[in-house]
Amino acid sequence: RVPRTSSGGGTMISFKKACEAHGLPFSDKPIDGSSGFGPTESNIVDGKRVGAYRTYLVPAMKRENLKVIQKAQASRVIFDGTKATGVEYLNKEGEKVVVNCNKEVILSCGTVRSPHVLLLSGVGDEKNLKKHNIPLVADVPGVGMNFQDHIWAAVFYEPSEPLPSFPGQFLSTQGLWRIDGNTEKQPDYQIVTIGRKEYLHNFPKPPGYEDKEVFMAASTLLHPRSSGSVSLSSSDPSAYPVVDPNYLACPEDLLVLRKGLELTCKIVSSMDCIKSNIIPGPLDVDDYIRGSAQSLFHPVGTCKMGNDIFAVVNEKFEVKGTQNLRVIDASVLPSLPSGNTHVPTLSVATRALQIMRGN
Ligand SMILES: Cc1cc2nc3c(=O)[nH]c(=O)nc-3n(C[C@H](O)[C@H](O)[C@H](O)COP(=O)(O)OP(=O)(O)OC[C@H]3O[C@@H](n4cnc5c(N)ncnc54)[C@H](O)[C@@H]3O)c2cc1C
Repeated sequence: RVPRTSSGGGTMISFKKACEAHGLPFSDKPIDGSSGFGPTESNIVDGKRVGAYRTYLVPAMKRENLKVIQKAQASRVIFDGTKATGVEYLNKEGEKVVVNCNKEVILSCGTVRSPHVLLLSGVGDEKNLKKHNIPLVADVPGVGMNFQDHIWAAVFYEPSEPLPSFPGQFLSTQGLWRIDGNTEKQPDYQIVTIGRKEYLHNFPKPPGYEDKEVFMAASTLLHPRSSGSVSLSSSDPSAYPVVDPNYLACPEDLLVLRKGLELTCKIVSSMDCIKSNIIPGPLDVDDYIRGSAQSLFHPVGTCKMGNDIFAVVNEKFEVKGTQNLRVIDASVLPSLPSGNTHVPTLSVATRALQIMRGN
């Protein structure tokens, strides 16, 4: 379910007017990944965000062929040669328990943990596995490589009127745009405005505004050229893996974020619901971005699908060099979509299901 933002109220109208004043195309229709400005879509039912747990797992819990074990951490896939035969997990007491399978094992631990479990299981780059004394099952050098994530940099404004309340809602309005303004090509940044009472807690409020309402707007880098990695810190499954996001390593990424932030400031400062700008003041924009940009929590790519040497799964989601093992989660996306990753991940899972059913 992806309903449209209920109503952006005054802030939405104000954003629309500002876009039109700058000659930017605003549409009341959902933005489908191509360039344009408009309202956002959200998975919201009765004021609550809805994810895969409530929409897929809860309705399936009554099935007799489903058993969910809580407080269990998958520590490795068990192999007979290169054929997956089960999973070892740590229970809540930290004891190792093995579950055998008679068909196949599906890893869905996400972009950080799916490659971690593969590496702990002996599927990865042979040289790195050797360093951690992990016996090799399959030499798949791309496991944990190609980490990509959306990052965004935010600016803050004082609103001229009280902000509306949208419980459970994340964004109000957005724009997908390119630094060269070419609307024929895929957008390279996303502008979002968060003009609502409920604040995003991962962004500290500007000094002096801790107990006041602030209007936030941000620019997101959609298709970073920089990529990072997930690797082992130890062969101990309870040790965290090393995540090196390598943000902004390529100068082009900083350029896109800067251009995006400049347009964000231009639009927002001409919105009639805005009283004054708080942050950034007269700063070096690149320094500001480097010091303040944050993850939008959209990592993908560490078990990417493809045919090249760094691909981890094939088009059937099967892990290369193994049998009876698939990865189905955001880690298989070879690159980031021009938007948020929740629905693309659900689409990937739906496609995987069709393939597993033989369609
Ligand atoms: C704070 C936050 C806000 C977000 N907001 C949005 C948004 O507004 N819109 C949007 O489109 N996307 C959003 N995302 C991104 C979206 O949630 C992800 O893209 C999506 O959940 C990825 O799905 P996944 O199945 O790959 O991984 P996950 O959803 O992370 O699922 C992996 C699961 O595996 C479990 N797990 C991990 N390791 C193990 C292990 N060893 N053993 C057993 N279980 C394990 C985890 O606990 C988790 O339940 C947000 C993400 C975060 C973190």
